[in-house]
Amino acid sequence: MNGRAGAPVIRVLDQATVNQIAAGEVVERPASVVKELTENAIDAGARSIRIDLTSSPTGISSVRVTDDGSGMSPADAILAFTPHATSKIAAITDLDRISTLGFRGEALASIAAVSRVTLITRPRDNPGEPGTKIVITGGVIAANTPVGAPGGTGILVEDLFFNTPARKKFQKSRNTELAHIHGLLEGIVLAHPSIAFRLYHNGMEKLLTDRDGTLPGVIARVYGPELARDLIPVSAPGPLVQVSGYISLPAQSRKDHSRIRIAINQRYVSSPAIINAIKEGYGTLLPKDRFPVAFLSITVDPAMVDVNVHPTKKLVRISREPEVMLAIRDGIHTVLFQANLMPDAGSPTQELLPEYHEETAVQQPAPDEYRIPDIQPGIVSEPTHAGTIMTDRQLRRTETETGVPPATSRIPPLQVIGQFGGIYILATTDTGELVVIDQHAAHERILYEIVSNHGQDDQVLQELIVPVVLHRTPRESALLRELLPALSCEGFVMEDFGRDTFLVRAIPVFLGKPEDLGMIDEIISDLTSPESGQRVDNRERITRVIACRGAVKAGTVCSQEQCQRVADQLRQAKNPFTCPHGRPTLIRFSKEDLDGMFKRT
Ligand code: ADP
Ligand code: MG
Repeated sequence: MNGRAGAPVIRVLDQATVNQIAAGEVVERPASVVKELTENAIDAGARSIRIDLTSSPTGISSVRVTDDGSGMSPADAILAFTPHATSKIAAITDLDRISTLGFRGEALASIAAVSRVTLITRPRDNPGEPGTKIVITGGVIAANTPVGAPGGTGILVEDLFFNTPARKKFQKSRNTELAHIHGLLEGIVLAHPSIAFRLYHNGMEKLLTDRDGTLPGVIARVYGPELARDLIPVSAPGPLVQVSGYISLPAQSRKDHSRIRIAINQRYVSSPAIINAIKEGYGTLLPKDRFPVAFLSITVDPAMVDVNVHPTKKLVRISREPEVMLAIRDGIHTVLFQANLMPDAGSPTQELLPEYHEETAVQQPAPDEYRIPDIQPGIVSEPTHAGTIMTDRQLRRTETETGVPPATSRIPPLQVIGQFGGIYILATTDTGELVVIDQHAAHERILYEIVSNHGQDDQVLQELIVPVVLHRTPRESALLRELLPALSCEGFVMEDFGRDTFLVRAIPVFLGKPEDLGMIDEIISDLTSPESGQRVDNRERITRVIACRGAVKAGTVCSQEQCQRVADQLRQAKNPFTCPHGRPTLIRFSKEDLDGMFKRT
């Protein structure tokens, strides 16, 4: 602009500047270069791809990607650096059936505009044609000569952002960039199990996949054999969507979604909607703040995916999204219900939910205080008479008429041998395994299923002889008023008495006779507390709270017969392996597990 008051003078930018600006969209950071070059190699039909990075303490100094793909003729090689030159589409309508990773014809032109590129290429399937070497610096061709070369393409990118200092300044530390590149390549290699990838950094091998074509093979390479071993296959063919891949047992959950990798039509994408659909597939098998491990390949009609929404193509838009999400959710749900989810002692279940605090935590011995666990057959201490009656009452509420576990139980018959610490029920199976049951978690699961499955006409409420008066804050009152209809369906009959006061007239039968009216106050507080799961619907939240509050507490001493009743009831549950918060209800120890622990092998 010419001074403050003068009219602006409009100029058309020269091509080099235009290219540099455009490059900013595609080439954000060194990882973008790795992504574009690797995707080009995949599109070129490479069977093996090698990526070489070099770095200095200040950042990534060069990226080289070498492939054994189609290669380029001398004419194509120079065209490849022209903006919007692509061999992958010819017209906008082709976008509907895009099967390649690239299609915009921008990447090579953009990379060349902001770095020094050396390309060596020769057509693989046409041995008569010569190889070509092209050097371009800041978008200007510095050399274009024939060379001898193997079939395929090698592209070396150096001096990235040398002519765009503003961009260069914003580059993060070397380790941040390396982390980006690793994260990106993990996604790409998982989406292409039939391509052999090799990644080297300063000459050191960092990642290597062989072309064995199986996803578990790649998962084992990238994340280690332990993770790969415990995954469950998913295969959900459908008319609209096909979902395949591997997911983890709930016990292998994680606090973030860094082990969820999704490819749509073999394009690695990031999609919060799909992550959410996967989580929904786990339902109550997982706490709301935990994520499973999942490697999913989703195949849909290419016309349903719009990849042209973002320059890096990592975000995609899917049409008929609700149906696609439903298919993913149901596919996962089905698999989990067929799987054997009983965690064995080898699974690192203990360290999975360190942040979980049981509301009635039992005193743990101090870590330095060494004690031999006093496990013995039979009960550890005598329950009091009143305690026994109370527990009996709680157990009766969840017992079916017959009390006979169904023939199709997902857990083998359990023979209780005792209770430990007032928390755990010890049992054996007919196949000679030791099973440790968390009595509160187990009873909570049993109660949860009964409460969530009760019919419209079932008797769910018990009237209180004297209504309980609750005073709430204005915020809590507002939340509570919202919940009143849902609460009454579950047996909580409450009346809004005005001025933030409520009268509780009836409570769910599943809560039993409330010995302590403070409990009603606490349950209602649970439901309006800010932490109370906002991601699930009201009925679900109420059901979970009732199950948790109505279940036999940890720390309740139970007789052997009572323990047996919990074990039998658990066997009748549809999903006996986790409580509604996703914690395990039982852990199995085989004789081999124990032998191993005692080094008897
Ligand atoms: P796009 O991938 O969107 O087509 P690029 O700028 O990434 O655009 O590449 C331009 C063209 O160069 C591609 O369409 C392809 O024909 C050719 N090309 C790029 N990299 C390779 C490669 N590794 N092997 C063979 N051809 C390649
Ligand atoms: Mg490309």
